[in-house]
Amino acid sequence: MKNLQQAEPIPQQAREAIEDMLKSGDLFRYTAKENAPVTLLEQEFAEMMGSRFALAVASCSAALFLTLKTLDLKPDAKVIIPGFTFAAVPSAVVHANCQPVLVEVGDNFRLDMDDFKAKLNDDIGAVLISHMRGHTSDMDEILRLCKAKNIPVIEDAAHSLGTTWNGQKIGTMGVVGCFSFQSYKLVNGGEGGILITDDEDIIAKAVIMSGAYENNWQKHGCGTDSFARYQNTLPLYNTRMNNLSATVIRPQLAEVPRRAANGLRNHDHLAARLNSHPNLHVPPALQPEHRAPDSIQFLLENINEPQARALMKTSAAVGLPVQIFGLHNENARVFWNWKFIPNLPELPKTRSMLMRACDLRLPASLTLEDVDKIADALLGCMDQVVPAKAA
Ligand SMILES: *Cc1c(COP(=O)(O)O)cnc(C)c1O
Repeated sequence: MKNLQQAEPIPQQAREAIEDMLKSGDLFRYTAKENAPVTLLEQEFAEMMGSRFALAVASCSAALFLTLKTLDLKPDAKVIIPGFTFAAVPSAVVHANCQPVLVEVGDNFRLDMDDFKAKLNDDIGAVLISHMRGHTSDMDEILRLCKAKNIPVIEDAAHSLGTTWNGQKIGTMGVVGCFSFQSYKLVNGGEGGILITDDEDIIAKAVIMSGAYENNWQKHGCGTDSFARYQNTLPLYNTRMNNLSATVIRPQLAEVPRRAANGLRNHDHLAARLNSHPNLHVPPALQPEHRAPDSIQFLLENINEPQARALMKTSAAVGLPVQIFGLHNENARVFWNWKFIPNLPELPKTRSMLMRACDLRLPASLTLEDVDKIADALLGCMDQVVPAKAA
């Protein structure tokens, strides 16, 4: 069995550029007068996404935090987030002195729109849509409802690079889109994040707060008047990206279409095979959605908890690290472990989904042959766990 945690090698181009950089020692983004690798990454990423501006930072979490800080929300403002996401998302909200409002997520891993509507009241300062594991919620309806109330929508597209909705790139639908270059995402920078926006005011504030002290904002080549207006008026959170990370990331941007296409092919092939089993279900994508998955999530149907635990054990024994979100102690993706949130609510629908939702990485480098081996192994584990029905 292929090791599903294994990363792809970093392109040769990056290795040569890094060697040159190590010779010059020019690692800080603001040392060079122009064309620093971080600045070039921002230009290339913005162009790839069709956005006016990009800002590269230390992580997607930092991008989410800075975005919230640019919105001038009142202290303790309420920010809607999905009840199924990574703990870094409510953490960014708390870090920005806002209160997360958790919305139910359904059995299809997407926002429960009835609960969203019920919670989208006039107290809400912003909506942060986390496209968890690259599953896109109903963006048309979310944007329509938020527009009617003049509430800004931020997209956490950490896991959605390459995904489109009605042909539009995910991350370009909200006022800001945030992406991650942490190693488990489509583009591997070790760590790193980037935000994109068309809003001059937001980019100016985010650039300064990311740590463009003194006149370093001039090296962003965004050439807007907004920067001078905010000079010395904003705190500097110093969460910049360095040139080494940018150099590792840049040559991988060209790989995005291949990785996205392979990821979707592998996912859909495995989904079809798993769906042939009566106790497994992979929910389909929404109609406007074109996905770029690098993992698969599937639901156990009519399986009791001892059987579910047995599946985790037997699959681990054959080299498949299947995790059931809610059965894995301390999982950072289950809301009941976000104990840093005051008055943590109960979300019965989300809890029920998490107790039977399985998670498996599916790197884009896998071949269909590899995927078939995974399917055979998983279905074999199911045969051990679920006794065949008496005829
Ligand atoms: C990985 C991830 C994050 C956090 O990204 P970092 O770059 O590690 O801060 C946030 N949201 C989602 C949906 C993620 O998958």
